[in-house]
Amino acid sequence: MDISNRNTIDLKDKKIVVIGLGLSGYAAAKLAIHCGAHVLISDPSQSDIVKSRGEELSEIGISVELGSYTDNIYDADLWILSPGVPKNEPIVTHALVKKITIVGEIEFASWFTESPIIAVTGSNGKTTTVNILTAMCQTDSTHGVLAGNVGSAFSKNVLDEIENPDPNQVYILEISSFQMEFIQHFHPNISVFLNITPDHLDRHGSMADYTSSKMNMCQNQGKSDTIIYNGDDPILTERLNNVSSQIKIFGFNENSEYSFRINAANIYDKSKNIYIKIDEIALPGPHNVANLTAAAMAAKTIGIPDDQIQHVFRSFQAIQHRLENVATISGIDFINDSKATNVDAVKVALQSYTQPIILILGGKDKGGDFTQLLPHTHNVKAVLAYGQARDIIATALEDAVRLSLVEGLKDAVRLSHQLASSGDIVLLSPGCASFDQFTSYEERGDMFKKWANELEQIA
Ligand code: ADP
Repeated sequence: MDISNRNTIDLKDKKIVVIGLGLSGYAAAKLAIHCGAHVLISDPSQSDIVKSRGEELSEIGISVELGSYTDNIYDADLWILSPGVPKNEPIVTHALVKKITIVGEIEFASWFTESPIIAVTGSNGKTTTVNILTAMCQTDSTHGVLAGNVGSAFSKNVLDEIENPDPNQVYILEISSFQMEFIQHFHPNISVFLNITPDHLDRHGSMADYTSSKMNMCQNQGKSDTIIYNGDDPILTERLNNVSSQIKIFGFNENSEYSFRINAANIYDKSKNIYIKIDEIALPGPHNVANLTAAAMAAKTIGIPDDQIQHVFRSFQAIQHRLENVATISGIDFINDSKATNVDAVKVALQSYTQPIILILGGKDKGGDFTQLLPHTHNVKAVLAYGQARDIIATALEDAVRLSLVEGLKDAVRLSHQLASSGDIVLLSPGCASFDQFTSYEERGDMFKKWANELEQIA
């Protein structure tokens, strides 16, 4: 199928195959059938949730194949590929050999909307930043709609918009590297790049491939568009120094090029006026000040008034599983940062507190280098390493900090309570994936919260 001209793409009677019945595939299939295509959706899983979504889609005329892929998937004009399927999977290679056009769900949905798009990516901080930005973008004349990798799928929101147009709508999209693998026309008006540090290298293979996927986000941006980025990040600075779009930079370094500069006391605008004082901000940690600043710059670019932006700086609280205070027991704060699934996120968590910390690390190893935490352990009283990665963590850190190995997270919570004194922090910031002992980082965080609150009975 020829998709080279976005304005002439017509799905009527086209054969569209959606690979993957996750939330994005489910929503893309519905959008595709709404646009008049013949749709087949295929997923090798047979989980209850996939089955129930499949049944729903069958009822509206979509063909559904679950349990394994059949050759029917190659009878297609266009594939919409789930971000969960690696681009080097044999089925993808085979489809490319057969000259089937492949796009991701974000690309696909973007063909059917003319509303402004603000796209946010980075290795860490995306979910926090898009939630902040969505809060900033709620005014009488602007209606920010959160979609993408968080909240509901972009295709779902675009279908809602087709059915109920809203002239004030602005999309705020959280974008992961996987969602940018098959991009052709996707064109945000504003793109925000928070940081690029090693992550998902198990799937991308190399840092260069990971970075390039993220950079695809701005490949179609031109002179009238805006790119906002973190000027302290060496990879972003190198990759974005020669683009035609309008550039707005933020960071902690002293640099006259920066539109917004942050120091320990204040955030300053380009004219060196104080925009807001750091001690007025509700969220903990310098990384969150960076996230707020990035969001503020995007909000200002679309004309959101300063008082609305500053109100969000003062009121926005931590979102679940990200430096979330879940219990205070005998004067000890238990902080759930289960979403910290890479070493960089642990680093910023450690920088967010001045109190003594009992740090719980562990889970399923993602290849992170835990020795990078060494310069940040000055207020770490003890490290408790649990799960599959515990020996790797011990090898990296045991000469520098007091470290204990435990089997499960529950053991770690119990031991942390014994080691901590009033005024200390117990911080679950695991630096690993959750899948050795939990189904998701959310489940891991929820269990941490439960076990921490159970300590109250013991205390
Ligand atoms: P993402 O959606 O990119 O995974 P989140 O906002 O969910 O980002 O945060 C994930 C983890 O990264 C949390 O542990 C959080 O405290 C940490 N984090 C948030 N913002 C940043 C940042 N700007 N730099 C580094 N780490 C961050």
